[in-house]
Amino acid sequence: EQKAIATPKRTKEILNKYGFAFKKSLGQNFLVDVNILKNMMHVADITKDVNTIEIGPGIGALTEQLAIHSNQVMAFEIDQRLIPILEDTLASYQNIQVVNQDILKANVKQLCTELFTDEKEIKVVANLPYYITTPILMQLLMEKLPISSITVMIQREVAERMAAVRNTKEYGSLSIAIQYYTEASIGMIVPKTVFMPQPRVDSAVLHLSMRDQPPVEVKNEAFFFQLVQGCFQQRRKTLRNNLIRHFQDILSKDEIEESFSLTEIDGTRRAESLSMEEFARLANHLLPLTE
Ligand code: SAM
Repeated sequence: EQKAIATPKRTKEILNKYGFAFKKSLGQNFLVDVNILKNMMHVADITKDVNTIEIGPGIGALTEQLAIHSNQVMAFEIDQRLIPILEDTLASYQNIQVVNQDILKANVKQLCTELFTDEKEIKVVANLPYYITTPILMQLLMEKLPISSITVMIQREVAERMAAVRNTKEYGSLSIAIQYYTEASIGMIVPKTVFMPQPRVDSAVLHLSMRDQPPVEVKNEAFFFQLVQGCFQQRRKTLRNNLIRHFQDILSKDEIEESFSLTEIDGTRRAESLSMEEFARLANHLLPLTE
C-alpha cells in the first residue's frame, strides 16, 4: 500500500515531481500530518453514509482521507496547476470528482445534484485558504445548501471568535453571524508545524452543525446583523453610545433611550454582555422606528 499523501516525504516528492511552486496569494499551506486529518474525520463524524464537499484539495492530502472514509467526494480547486497533479495523486480512488472552480463563484447546490449520484447526507470538510475564510463560510451558510455540517481548519483566532460565547473578549458580530445559522465548537487546536509551508499563526478545527432554524426570531435579518455590528463598533463603549452613533440622523437619543426601557435592556451595558436573544429583541423593536 502506498504511503498517505499527508506526510512530509510524499508531499516533497509530489512537489518536486511537478516543480510546483506555492502561491501565497491562494493560501496554499498543505497538511503533512495524517493523524490531524484522521482527527478531522472524527470531529466531522465522517462515515460511508456521508457524501463530502472539500474546498481547496491542494495535492490531495485531505481529499484522500475523505475518499477512504466517506461515500463520494466533490472537491473545488481554483488553481489550474493542481488539476493534473490531483489526477495523478488520487488516481487509485474512484469516488472523487475535482471541480476546477472558485468556490465563491461555483453553483454548489446544482453541482451537488449533478455530481453526487448516491443520495446521502452531505458534509463540508476542508482546510480552507485563510485569506477568504469568512467569505467562504458566510457564503456556505447563506446559500442554504443541503449540508448538515461544516468542519474546517482555519486560523485559531478566527475559530475562537466564531465559536465564542458572551462575556468573553472573542465574542462579537462574527460569533452572532455564525451561531445564528449553526452550533459552533472547536474540535482541536493545531500547531503551525504540521503545514508545508508553515503559516504564521496556529490553526484550529472549527465544527459547525447546521441549525434547522435560527435560535431567535428576527423580523429582518439584514437589519439584525447591521445592528449587531453597530453595537460592537466600539467594543469598550456602552450600548447607548454605540447605538446613538449607529443611528445618528435616523433616531433621536430619546427614541434610543426609550427602546432600552421598552426592551428591558440596560443601555449602560456593553455589547459583549448581550445574548443573541437580546440583540434580536432590540432589533425587532428598533426596526419599525427606522422604516
Ligand atoms: N486541502 C489541502 C491540504 O489540506 O493540504 C490544501 C489546503 S490549502 C490551505 C488551500 C487550498 O485552497 C489551496 O489548494 C488553494 O489553491 C485552494 N484555493 C484557494 N482559493 C480558492 C478558491 N477561491 N476556491 C477553491 N479553492 C481555492
